[in-house]
Amino acid sequence: MKSILTLNTVLFSILSTALFSQSDTPKLVVGIVVDQMCYEYLYRFQDQYTEGGFKRLMNEGTNCRTTHYNYVPTYTGPGHASIYTGTTPSNHGIVANDWIDRITKTAVNCVEDKLVQTVGSDSKKGEFSPVRLKVNTITDQLKLERPGAKVISMSIKNRGAILPGGHMSNGTYWFDSKSGDFITSTFYTTELPKWVTDFNKKDLPEKSMKQVWNTLHPIEQYVQSGPDNSPYEHLLPGKTEPVFPYDLPKISTKENVYDVFTCTPFANTFLTDFAIQALHAEKMGQNGSTDILCISYSSTDIIGHEFGPQSKEIQDTYLRLDRELERLLNELDRTLGKGSYTLFLTADHAVVPVPQLLIDKKLAGGYVFLSESVKQLKTAVMDKFGAALIMEEENLNIYIDRGLMREHQLNYDEVCRFVKEHIREWNGVKNVYTSSELQTGSGDKWFEMVRSGYHYKESGDVIFTLESGYLPKSKDTDKARKGTSHGSPYLLI
Ligand SMILES: [Zn+2]
Repeated sequence: MKSILTLNTVLFSILSTALFSQSDTPKLVVGIVVDQMCYEYLYRFQDQYTEGGFKRLMNEGTNCRTTHYNYVPTYTGPGHASIYTGTTPSNHGIVANDWIDRITKTAVNCVEDKLVQTVGSDSKKGEFSPVRLKVNTITDQLKLERPGAKVISMSIKNRGAILPGGHMSNGTYWFDSKSGDFITSTFYTTELPKWVTDFNKKDLPEKSMKQVWNTLHPIEQYVQSGPDNSPYEHLLPGKTEPVFPYDLPKISTKENVYDVFTCTPFANTFLTDFAIQALHAEKMGQNGSTDILCISYSSTDIIGHEFGPQSKEIQDTYLRLDRELERLLNELDRTLGKGSYTLFLTADHAVVPVPQLLIDKKLAGGYVFLSESVKQLKTAVMDKFGAALIMEEENLNIYIDRGLMREHQLNYDEVCRFVKEHIREWNGVKNVYTSSELQTGSGDKWFEMVRSGYHYKESGDVIFTLESGYLPKSKDTDKARKGTSHGSPYLLI
């Protein structure tokens, strides 16, 4: 095995790519994305890692230590697209997980595609494709140049599978939390291959949800994370305190069982099982050409959002993921032989500590509550220009109704500048840029990061960033001050 370990630091990272020489062609490239993995997890939890997982990658591979994403926003869609295209949202067009469609004036998902149908379930969870990805992925290039090469991509999240797999994959699969099965869409095929159907028939998620999620080691040994009963954590359904053990049959219902499943480390085990199944069934690395297997672990992100990076739940999730990596690497060694495949591991973004925890510890950080502020902005714009020009705020992008603006013969730059001046006054806002500035201007590294994440058709007309440690929320509620998120340009420590 050759491994290239590229993990993000705290809030952003960028992949360094593996270069192959003709005489040293790997049978298989395995790309692993750990959704929301912070670089520090490699070290914080290393005493409890095995020798065969993260530590093996660090010891036997190349560890790219200072790698950062060079754009904002640092979300899952842009992260996965950037890793596999080698470029930024300004080119690949995946500017966020969701953005405002200017024609329908509603939010669209980065992999949403109304022209395709679900394959493998009767839910609508399969109406997705890479149609919004505007450039080729490394997986596309491989398929173009070596038609015999195989690309298989998988994740619990649809976008975690679809964006890496690109437009030409032989199979792209994601988890349907309605049926509990891996599914795909008619973009790729009209029927699931037999090995996927057979795998689905094992009902592994259902079986996983019959157990109790307890810590892998006695919880007293988890000294690298905060208290288990923390005021900064969300409650899983059916829980009264955010603490171990999680008695899964007791806390889940028939309706939410597979959603709860994705918020347990058992979904990482399930994805590893599926990857190993794909390795054998598709004979990955045994087709006479270089193949690519893309795996994106999503539950790290889902658990991270609920409990935050200081939680016992996150520590346990990474200790268990480490063992899944060991299992996967051992299977790759056994099947293909050491040294005959190349593997990289990276993250699509990291995460900020729960801002309320930062506030309570008198550290820099906080919340920007947008619902009321945007309402006031809309009123101010109406008063000034006599038209309801502000469509929506999404991902710190203000979308202006360009058609209405033209109807009223208003000057675009004047409207944008007015909006910018208004937003600058909001507490917690750091920088504000107008669309024209991003298209023609130049500036410091923060400006360049916003510009690299900007696309004229999909991004807003005025874009702002927050101070370090801040998260945007709609309204100030108890729930809003629990759990955490990501999206900023900062390296927090
Ligand atoms: Zn993500």
